[in-house]
Amino acid sequence: MGLSVQAIRGMNDLLPEDTSVWQQVEQILRSTISSYGYSEVRMPIVEKTSLFCRAIGEVTDVVEKEMYTFEDRSGDVLSLRPEGTAGCVRACLEHNLIYNQEQRLWYMGPMFRHERPQKGRYRQFHQMGVEVFGLRGPDIDAELITMTAQLWKKLGIEKELTLQINSLGSAAERAAYRGSLVKFLEAHQDELDEDSRRRMHTNPLRVLDSKDERVGELLKNAPKLNEYFGQETRDHFESLLTFLREAGIRYEINNRLVRGLDYYNLTVFEWVTTALGAQGTVCGGGRYDGLVEQLGGTACPAVGFGIGLERLILLLTTLGKLTPRGDVDVYVVGAGDGIELQQASLCRSLRDSLPGLRIMNHCGGGSFKKQFKRADKLGARLAVILGDNEIANNSVTIKDLKNEENGQREYSYDEAVAFIRDIFCNNKNCK
Ligand code: ATP
Ligand code: MG
Repeated sequence: MGLSVQAIRGMNDLLPEDTSVWQQVEQILRSTISSYGYSEVRMPIVEKTSLFCRAIGEVTDVVEKEMYTFEDRSGDVLSLRPEGTAGCVRACLEHNLIYNQEQRLWYMGPMFRHERPQKGRYRQFHQMGVEVFGLRGPDIDAELITMTAQLWKKLGIEKELTLQINSLGSAAERAAYRGSLVKFLEAHQDELDEDSRRRMHTNPLRVLDSKDERVGELLKNAPKLNEYFGQETRDHFESLLTFLREAGIRYEINNRLVRGLDYYNLTVFEWVTTALGAQGTVCGGGRYDGLVEQLGGTACPAVGFGIGLERLILLLTTLGKLTPRGDVDVYVVGAGDGIELQQASLCRSLRDSLPGLRIMNHCGGGSFKKQFKRADKLGARLAVILGDNEIANNSVTIKDLKNEENGQREYSYDEAVAFIRDIFCNNKNCK
C-alpha cells in the first residue's frame, strides 16, 4: 500500500543518521560563536508579510517570487520567514534592545522560500545567522569574517571555501551610480537576458549579479560602482582588508557581488565553494546600516551574516569530513529470563554514576546473539552484561566491542563504573 500523504517537495525529514551529523555541526557553531561572547535569540517562524516587504525590498526575488504567504483565520497577511535578519531587527526594536546600546546576537533555525528544489536549494532550509547592532567600524566586519574563517578551520574545510568581498558604498553613492549603470544597460538591451532586462529598471544593481555568461561579458565594460565611492567608503573597505590580511584571511575582491537582498551597504561578502555545483554559496553577509531606521527605529549601524546549514553539511559530507556517530555508548544486555527488573535498576544506577554517557537498556529479551547484534548496530563501545552469576556476585561483566584487547571481564559495580569512566572520559563530559 502506497503512503497517501508525503512531505512537501523541497522540505526534508532529518533522520537519525542525519541528526547525528547536524548535532556535531551545530555544536561546533554554537561553541565558536559563544567563544566570542555573542548571545542567542529565538524569533517566531511567522511574521507579518509587511515586515519582509519593508526589510528585504519589494523587488527582490525573495519577496517577489519566493515567500510562503497566507492569510490566517483573523485575516492577517503573514509569511513564513524567508530569512532571519528582518525578524531579528523587529524583535530588537520591539524589546528596545538596540537604542543606544550594542548587541551581538545569533540564531539558528528553519527558513522558507518557494524556490525550485534542487541539490543545495530547498523550500525549507536552515540558517545560522549572526547580527551585530550599534557598531560602525570595519573592526566588527572583520570580526564576523574572522569568526566564519575560524568555523571553516574547525570543520576542516578552510581550503574548500573562498572569501569573496565587495563594498556597495553608501545609498547616495549607489544612487549616483545607478543612473550611469541604467544608461549603459539600456544601450545594450539586446544583449541582456530576460531577467536582467526586467531588473534593469526595478533593481539595476541586481543585474551585476546575473549568472548569464553573455551578460557577464558585457558587464566587463560597464561603469563600476567603486568609481563613485567617496573617501569614507574607501577607508572603510581598505581598513577591513587590512584587518583580514593581518588575520591571515585570504580574499578575492569581486566587484559584481551585490547580494540578493536590498538592505546591504558598504561591506558585502560570501564564502563560496566549487564542490557543490551551482549552489556554491555557503555563507553570505554584509553591513545594513539603514535597516533599523527603515523599520521604524532610531538609526543604528548593523552587520551580519547567514550560513546555509544544508549546504555546509552537504559540503562536509561530500568531502567525508563528518561521519554519522552512533547514539549509544553503553548497551546493557540481559542474560536469562526474569532479570528485567534488575537490569532496569542497573541502568538507572549506571546513568546516575556516569552522567554524560549514553546508556541504552536492551528491552524485549531474546538471545545473546541478537542483543549483541543490536549493540553493534547502535555503535555502542561497551556491552554491560547482567546474568544470574553477576546478580549473585553483585557484579557485572563488561565486553569491549571495539577493542578486542580489553576482551570480556567481570567487575564489581564500583570497578565497572571506574573502568567505563576511564574509557570515555578522555573525550566526554562525564564526571
Ligand atoms: P542563493 O545565491 O543561493 O540564491 P541567497 O543569496 O538567496 O542564496 P541568502 O539570502 O543570502 O541567500 O541566504 C544565506 C545563505 O542561506 C545562502 O548563502 C545559502 O547558503 C543559504 N540558502 C539560501 N537559500 C537557500 C535555499 N533555498 N536552500 C538552501 N539554502 C539556502
Ligand atoms: Mg536566492
